Amino acid sequence: MDCLFCKIAAKQIPAKTAFENDRVIAFHDLFPQAPTHILIIPKAHYTTLNDVPASEAALVGELMTTASQLAKEHGFDEAGYRVVMNCNPDGGQSVYHIHLHLLAGRKLTWPPG
Ligand code: C5P
Repeated sequence: MDCLFCKIAAKQIPAKTAFENDRVIAFHDLFPQAPTHILIIPKAHYTTLNDVPASEAALVGELMTTASQLAKEHGFDEAGYRVVMNCNPDGGQSVYHIHLHLLAGRKLTWPPG
């Protein structure tokens, strides 16, 4: 499958890895939108959040707990951070392999654009 994030997960394309286990890999976004901008992805390919079955709820949960763990490790858990997953064109998704954005290091505004 011609998927950029599958290739990163398979180490066919290099990325600055922040965390990895058998199911999940986290790496720094190439075009950061905050001082810290990490993408957390499942190694298994799911095109959008719509494609994740309920049986994989634990995997989606692990993306979230990986984010909070990274927040603690990077020391911005107290100051705060944002996690977001974009879905399909109106959600702003541009890479079609699900990923959780972890953004931190500046005061983030709301609502997003
Ligand atoms: O939510 P969305 O699909 O737009 O997020 C994709 C993210 O992947 C973007 O933040 C973009 O900067 C990042 N990206 C990357 N390396 C690439 C292509 C995109 O980190 N080669």
